[in-house]
Amino acid sequence: MLNKIKKFINNGDLRKVRFWIQLVTFILFVYGGYFAISFGSSFPIFTCPFNDESSAICYLISLQHQLAMPTQVIFSMASLGILIGLITFIAWFAVLNKAWCGYMCPFGTLQDWITALRKRMGIRFSTYTQNEFENLSKIKYIFLAIILLVPLFMGLGVLDREWTHAFCQMCPARIISPMFVGDFSQWTIDFSSITVMILTGIGVAFTGLFFVGSFVKKRFFCFFCPMSGLHYIFSKFSIIRFTKEGDKCTRCGDCYAVCDMQIKDIADDVISKNILRDDCILCLKCVAACPEDDALHIDIFNIKTFSSTKEGFNKRMGIQKFKGSIDE
Ligand code: SF4
Ligand code: SF4
Ligand code: SF4
Repeated sequence: MLNKIKKFINNGDLRKVRFWIQLVTFILFVYGGYFAISFGSSFPIFTCPFNDESSAICYLISLQHQLAMPTQVIFSMASLGILIGLITFIAWFAVLNKAWCGYMCPFGTLQDWITALRKRMGIRFSTYTQNEFENLSKIKYIFLAIILLVPLFMGLGVLDREWTHAFCQMCPARIISPMFVGDFSQWTIDFSSITVMILTGIGVAFTGLFFVGSFVKKRFFCFFCPMSGLHYIFSKFSIIRFTKEGDKCTRCGDCYAVCDMQIKDIADDVISKNILRDDCILCLKCVAACPEDDALHIDIFNIKTFSSTKEGFNKRMGIQKFKGSIDE
């Protein structure tokens, strides 16, 4: 019985499963407020509260508000609130690890839809050189540092209130998320002070860049996303593990060819067992594309749950003949 379930999962059409999960969760998280659904304020994805109908609040905005409290407050009983927020974030995150990004984040899904549009229009995608990739993927940690340090400096009185949720003022999700419920009010530069003008100006510029970049580059924004960096820091706490058995890998490169995040180690690293990298979105396209039994697998509580298999690969390739390349 267990073997039959495993075979069913390993031979499944991942593209279809992913499409439906992304569609349903997009509706749930972007429009959930209409149905009075609320998942709280420590959600591990870009469920942006600037959209009044969002059913959850992105942890990054909560974190910035909590850290901006005056230092004496942070070191009082109020620190309990910060701790509870962090524990809630980790608890949500631990369930799915970075698959939150591959399957649930409305902002990730939006980028995949823009990619699908580009593909329909017959325009080819761009890639980064390895050097560009390595340099660009560090930017997310600069944003993460802004998220952590700016509010702390506000709490110390070094920076004033104009810096309130500084990252959100620059984040394209603040501008794009409300658009899905017909609210275009965030498409403005706020001239109330020079600091706010610069931050919101960067926000508008990033939003334009988001649309252009996502059209030519798969998951363009995810390379820069500080939430992805935060995920990686806590990925050891997750019940889901992404494993590679190097001795079963032939380094054929099929997994790298389908990886939207250009993670070279997925094909080249035959030493590490834990193959999760900070840019990975756990989309599992590489597992579906790998033709070697158990070379790549996803484990839940150390139980192999989805594995690369020759049979699954052949089956999916049969489907792809009719539906086009496995790569989007
Ligand atoms: S990395 Fe991409 S999918 Fe993940 S939280 Fe950031 S925007 Fe969303
Ligand atoms: S597709 Fe599988 S066998 Fe090929 S390089 Fe990737 S992990 Fe190795
Ligand atoms: S390494 Fe695999 S799971 Fe991670 S982003 Fe690339 S294709 Fe998706």
